[in-house]
Amino acid sequence: MNYKIAVIDGDGIGPEVVAAALNVLNAIGKKFKHKFNFKRVLMGGRAIDATGVPLPKETVSACKRSDAVLLGAVGGPKWDKLPGHLRPEAGLLGIRAALGLYANIRPAVLYPSLADACPLRPDIAAKGIDLIVVRELTGGMYFGKRGLREGKFGAEAWDTEKYNVMEIRRICKIGFETARARRGKLTSIDKANVLESSRLWRKTVHEMAADYPDVALDDMLVDNAAMQLVRNPAQFDVIVTSNIFGDILSDEASMVTGSIGLLASSSLGEKNPGLFEPIHGSAPDIAGQDKADPIATILSAAMLLRSLKLGAEANAVETAVKRTLSETPFRTVDIASAGQTVVGCSRMGEVVEGYI
Ligand code: NAD
Repeated sequence: MNYKIAVIDGDGIGPEVVAAALNVLNAIGKKFKHKFNFKRVLMGGRAIDATGVPLPKETVSACKRSDAVLLGAVGGPKWDKLPGHLRPEAGLLGIRAALGLYANIRPAVLYPSLADACPLRPDIAAKGIDLIVVRELTGGMYFGKRGLREGKFGAEAWDTEKYNVMEIRRICKIGFETARARRGKLTSIDKANVLESSRLWRKTVHEMAADYPDVALDDMLVDNAAMQLVRNPAQFDVIVTSNIFGDILSDEASMVTGSIGLLASSSLGEKNPGLFEPIHGSAPDIAGQDKADPIATILSAAMLLRSLKLGAEANAVETAVKRTLSETPFRTVDIASAGQTVVGCSRMGEVVEGYI
């Protein structure tokens, strides 16, 4: 088969980690007889330098015409003083909105061979971490009405959390379906003891549960969930939650697995292609030094393959990463411990590619 992939290298380490992921995709293409046509498009700082805006119109249309979008990361000190709507990060929010990407999916896996990188107690890490956070991405507090006014005690600011049943149903559907394809456990995280929006969330997710008899649904209050993620992360399979709770919990979930350089993500909508990117930023402190860990971007490419219904191909990429970490001494500097061989981004990519 032929696939069109829009590729946004981005800034900082973006081009380095994307190059490694594209090599892995090409190796997959060769092995499974697919042709991936990569179309380079600009976003972020490089787009500002070339066109004056962080998200040129051509980028949006090229992404919409593609089967999937692969992104490195955008941003950097060079563009930090620009006004908000012209900063590289505005490109990121713009492309998510333009593609209607309402679901953000972040797997957090602790590889046994990287147990040393886990900040949790060894007995907790030994139970393993293999969970997915499904976060609502286009609703809730970040998109609700807000304001600043003069109140009784001076300046007073307010934000609103609003969810409707359609928004809750479509994100929870992804939660149920993700759980169904894994260990069959879905934890819906809310603050239903206080928030009306959470009570509607909880009622809706329970109404949906009848359609998924093979999935065990439970609820957890967000404050308890934050604690449980460090106390016993092995209890979680799939978490589904709102935009703001997901923002906070997915960062917590990713950190307990070790380096930020390992974690992939996808953002999905209904009509347009999905966007696949590592969770990390452009890491200006190590950019251009061949020090970045490419694994998060390579695993994002695996998620991209799965979105194209190329499950065997996605598994091949994930297995190559696992074998690299368990069978070789090679590590980028962020995950290396004593006695291991520190290699650069491009070499690490080649080692993974060798296992395809
Ligand atoms: P960052 O994720 O870029 O870096 C944080 C730390 O993690 C740094 O020490 C960095 O060296 C390290 N790190 C990140 N990725 C790594 C990798 N693959 N391998 C090894 N080490 C890695 O976060 P930041 O420093 O807060 O942000 C830098 C820039 O990236 C900012 O302009 C920010 O706005 C942007 N950013 C972009 C995205 C995105 O494009 N999705 C996400 C977050 C931040």
